[in-house]
Amino acid sequence: MLEVDSIDVAYGNVQVIWDVSFDVAEGETVALLGANGVGKTTVLKTICGPLTPRKGEVRYDGESIGDLDQDEVVPKGIVHVPEGREIFTESTVEENLRLGAFTNPEGKDERFSFVYDVFPRLEERKDQRAGTLSGGEQQMLAIGRGLMSDPDLILLDEASLGLAPVLVDDVFEAIEEITDRGTTVLIVEQDVNNALRIADRGYVLESGRISMSGDSHELASNDEVTATYLGG
Ligand code: ATP
Repeated sequence: MLEVDSIDVAYGNVQVIWDVSFDVAEGETVALLGANGVGKTTVLKTICGPLTPRKGEVRYDGESIGDLDQDEVVPKGIVHVPEGREIFTESTVEENLRLGAFTNPEGKDERFSFVYDVFPRLEERKDQRAGTLSGGEQQMLAIGRGLMSDPDLILLDEASLGLAPVLVDDVFEAIEEITDRGTTVLIVEQDVNNALRIADRGYVLESGRISMSGDSHELASNDEVTATYLGG
């Protein structure tokens, strides 16, 4: 479904991604893992819009999409839930969700039910101003808004960042539910433990290069991964 093929990405003259390749098949959950600042967000932004690879290609269902903007990739079925949530704090929960369906209004009612099914807490708070939601609820809203465009592939950037442990569990449970319902997911995470728990496969990014890859069980029992990312 998604193929990232030998991409180099730079900000001006500063190259941050070197020869990165990975793929995501339809129905899979794939995790792109790594510490702060290794380039995970840069890779997502190259897939979904704002950045263009200097070398290599990003393909979606065989079509090159590396130089398309975000508003051009959403109609193709890819949605990006950015780090930091970026919800409309002055609007209500329901208004935020409605905006998510803006590019693809057909079937909106079913999608509202789907999102409220995955996140019952959002339905309870549908008339509440988004800025007054807790951090975890705002993250659920950001994911819910992404789901409202009815994506085939959802890119989740650090969905659990900054959340209390109990909310982290809720968010990962919700991601599992989304994958169970057939949406393909690429998650970018520093929380290697939880990411490998829900993903089928993973890739480890170090200093802008893929250093390891494998199925989640393999990676979770790999000595280097445990020592570096899972506290030994
Ligand atoms: P984090 O988990 O902390 O978000 P990350 O793995 O997602 O980190 P990126 O945000 O992709 O990492 O950043 C990779 C490198 O690119 C970092 O050194 C960062 O400082 C640099 N970088 C990111 N955005 C820009 C930008 N707009 N201009 C210049 N350099 C940038």
